[in-house]
Parts: sequence; structure tokens; C-alpha cells
Amino acid sequence: MARYDGNEVFDVLVVGAGIAGCESALAAAESGARVGLASAGETFSGSSFFPGTWGLGLVGPASEKDEGGFVETILEVGRGMALPGLVRALVRGVAPAVARLEERGVELRGAARPEERDFIPCFDRKRRSWHGLERASYRTATEAALRRAGVTALPRHELLDIVEKDGCVRGALFARGDCPTYVAAGAVVLATGGFGGLFSRTLTMPDVLGTTAAVALRHGARLINVEFIQIMPGLVEPVRGVVFNERTFRYARVEGLDAPDAAELLDERGGHGPFTASLPDRAVDFAIAAAGPHGAAVAYDLPETLPEFMQTYFDWFEGAFGRRPDAGLRIAPYAHASNGGILVDERGWTGVPGLFACGEATGGMHGADRIGGLSSANGLVFGWAAGRAAAQSVEKGQAPFHAQEAGGRREDLLALRRAMDEHCLLGRTAEGLGTMARLLDGLDEKNARAASPRLANATLSARALVTAMLARTESRGAHHRADFPDEDPAQARPLVVRLGADGRPVAEPLA
Ligand SMILES: Cc1cc2nc3c(=O)[nH]c(=O)nc-3n(C[C@H](O)[C@H](O)[C@H](O)COP(=O)(O)OP(=O)(O)OC[C@H]3O[C@@H](n4cnc5c(N)ncnc54)[C@H](O)[C@@H]3O)c2cc1C
Repeated sequence: MARYDGNEVFDVLVVGAGIAGCESALAAAESGARVGLASAGETFSGSSFFPGTWGLGLVGPASEKDEGGFVETILEVGRGMALPGLVRALVRGVAPAVARLEERGVELRGAARPEERDFIPCFDRKRRSWHGLERASYRTATEAALRRAGVTALPRHELLDIVEKDGCVRGALFARGDCPTYVAAGAVVLATGGFGGLFSRTLTMPDVLGTTAAVALRHGARLINVEFIQIMPGLVEPVRGVVFNERTFRYARVEGLDAPDAAELLDERGGHGPFTASLPDRAVDFAIAAAGPHGAAVAYDLPETLPEFMQTYFDWFEGAFGRRPDAGLRIAPYAHASNGGILVDERGWTGVPGLFACGEATGGMHGADRIGGLSSANGLVFGWAAGRAAAQSVEKGQAPFHAQEAGGRREDLLALRRAMDEHCLLGRTAEGLGTMARLLDGLDEKNARAASPRLANATLSARALVTAMLARTESRGAHHRADFPDEDPAQARPLVVRLGADGRPVAEPLA
């Protein structure tokens, strides 16, 4: 792909080069736009290219007839937090997205033994259409397509701000290393992934910074469902930051879980990767969290023949780390994918002229819990839709506009991330969230003197999360409040976060 020469003016600037950003860039270019694809990491980065797994499961309705039932199930699993219009658009969009991938030459893995119960997606009750999206094949085919479409790559560009003039998007301000760079564009698509980077114990990639929600808020966009961050058991031994295969829970013993019904709880827990406050098997995650950051020991009693899903994980694990998982593991809760994010419509429009968003950076198509395999689907479906809509929104060939420069320093982020692990993963309380809010006040005060846009984006994004977590005084799906352990039917509405007149986030139920 062509590299940015510092002078080009783009019609559409896509920020984020995971699957959502790549799809968006391709769709915009195929609609005739001149497209830049910027990313904090390399081109082809983010959770989409997390090396600690074989690839991504991609789920859709089993057939056209299954679409209505699938929509109902997503809404039910979302426990009142998903928006029906976005859910319908997601479900309808999966089959065309799969067809586009196949046409591009992406090889999709099928299930050899689809009848096995492990092919029922997390939180779902029946089998759907399942494809395995392998990183290497997606990358090879998509890189060639982006090159043919003339998309320009801007790797290692961290978004600091969007530049607006007279109510129109005119480009974006980035840090390249510590050097500020302005890139001109008529529309911006945020495809920057979830909030993993605001935590230190996270199962996402280091370039998934979690900071662009602040940029979107400052320019008038709103967030939805940001308190629902998936919390997932991951390994701390023999290696850190590797996904634990939850399907193996049914053959496992977990340190600290000594309830009389432990075997049934573990069997149920094997049906979904992320924690949910809404099922009795939350006791398994509480036992893991109680073991602290050094993790709970897991031991296995395995059958002679492993189901296909587990065998794939065991083979991959042995190849990657030179030992089998049943030689002993320790696991702890990690921040994982975000179910919420920037509020968009079916075309990925944020409601702010020229500003679009897609993929894990957005919310509303998932609820309090998300069916497994729908995050990759989200990136493919809404990435494409946002790219097309952004291309259609711009007046092509506008003149460049030169913005003021702004510096950026990476400081204090570690303290923020560690405190987020402590107060904003499992067992949130008013007291802990209050402590987190005070820590953010302190960082903002310090930053008022040092003026680092990076830190300002991180503190505002974190504050948006803390505001929603404080406002939801119940436990529902991925959101667990230790001081409000039950679901409250009166709170069965999504929370939307906007920026108040004082520049602080405000959370209120969706009107
Ligand atoms: C280990 C693991 C396993 C998973 N398994 C599955 C699965 O089986 N099925 C499924 O559906 N989902 C799964 N998910 C979730 C899924 O991978 C993600 O939700 C999806 O890939 C997100 O794609 P995205 O393009 O929206 O964001 P990402 O792939 O995270 O890409 C984000 C991009 O934004 C860039 N970026 C971030 N911040 C900035 C900034 N400030 N400035 C500029 N660029 C920025 C990054 O560099 C990156 O290029 C898994 C996630 C992980 C981590």
C-alpha cells in the first residue's frame, strides 16, 4: 500500500486499521473517495490481529429464516440494552459481508464437527452460521484489495483530535511518535476499537488505546452502553495475556471454587467466554477474582478425545508455548472487548457532520451481554456501511486546511490503567469508582500544567466509563456492582453519555 507523503488531502480518513477500519477504507475507496487509513499501531493491528489466538469466530444467522429469531435472541441476551434497528442491520449484513470476503479471496475456516455443542456461540442457545476468520488469510487478501483501491496507509499515527471548521470536519491531528501531524480530510471514520487500553490487565493489543471516545465526545458525539466491558479469564501463568479457553471449564477444577454445585457451575460457565452478572455461574468468576492478580490455579480431568473447539486451542497452545494447558495454568480476570462505545446509526453516522464510527469503537448493536462471534461481524458489517456513508457525505477535492499544532506526552497512563484494573473490573462499588474519579481529577489537575492531549483523552475516556458505571446502580450482564448485586427492572434502559456544559461526562437513560 502507498505510504502518506505528508501532503495528500483525503476525502475520507479512516482512523484504526483493524477489521472495521480496513473494511471501511475499502468501501470508501470503492465508492470513489481518496482514502487514508491511519492507525496508532501498524496497518492491520488492534484486537483483530491479536496474536494470542488462532483467529476470530464469525457468527451470523443460520439462514434467512433464522434472521428474526437471531435478532430476538441478541435483544434478549442484551437484557434490554441493544437497539433493535442496529441489531436488525447487523444480522441482515452478515451474509453479504461473508460473500464480500469470499470474493476478495479470504479463506474462511468451517467447522469439521459443527454438531458439537461448542459451536453454539457464547450466550446463545442454538447453532448459527459459523466461520473462522484467520488473520493471515484476511490480511493477505485485504492488503492486495486496499492496494488496488489506492488506499494510503498512515501507520503509527495516534489520533489526538479531529479538526473542525465552520461546523465541518476538515481533518485530524495525530502524534507520530511525539511529533504532531495534521492530516486533511473531508470526513473521518473512527474505527479505533474498544476500551482495553484504559486497563493494565487487558486481553487486547497495546495499540487499542481506548482514548478516542474523548475525541468523539468533545465534538458532540454520544456514547452508549460503555459500562458493559467484557471481563474475561486470561492466563497469568505459564504466560500472561493469553486467552483462556472457557470451553475447557467443564473439565476443570478452579482453585477457591468449592461450592457443592461447583461441577454444574463450571459446566454452565463453559458456555460463554466473558463474565456475566446475569447467570448463577458468576460464582466461578468471583472465585477467580478472589485469588487476586496472581490468579487462581486451574487443573484438568480431560477425556481421551477432546471436542474439536478445545483440540484446536490445545494444538495452538502447545505449538505457541511448548507445553499443554493441562500441565497447569493460573487465570485472572482481564478487560476484554467493549460491548458499548460511540452511538451511531445504521450507516455508522454519529450525528456530527462528517464524523462516522464503526466496529468495537461503537455501541448499540450489542447489549449488556454479547453473543460470541458478533464483534467481528460488527466490524465487517458496519465498517463497510460507515466507509460508504463517509464517502457519500464529502464534497470531493476540497482544499487543505492547516490546523494549530498540539504536543503530546505519554505520562501517568500506567497509574490510570492500574487503578482502572482495581476499581473498574469485577466488583465495582460507589466507593471504588469514587476513588477512581478522584484519581482522574488529580491527573487532570497535573495535566492542566503539562497539557498532554494523550493524557487528556485517556482521562476523559476513563471518566466517561466511570460516570456510566456509577450511574448504573445494579448488576446486569457484563456490568457488576458489588454494592448492587441484583438486576433492577427499573434500569432496563441503555445509558447514554454526553459531555455536559462543564466539559464533564453526563450519563442519562436513552430517551
Ligand atoms: C483475544 C481476542 C479474541 C477475540 N475473539 C473474538 C471472536 O472469536 N469473535 C469475535 O467476534 N470477536 C472476538 N474478539 C473481539 C474482536 O477481535 C474485536 O472486537 C474486533 O476485532 C475489533 O475490531 P475493530 O477493527 O473494531 O478494532 P481493533 O481490531 O481493535 O482495531 C483498532 C485499531 O485502532 C487503532 N487505534 C486505537 N486507538 C487509536 C488512536 N488513538 N489513534 C489512532 N489509531 C488508534 C489501532 O492501532 C488499531 O489499528 C476477540 C478479541 C480478542 C482480543
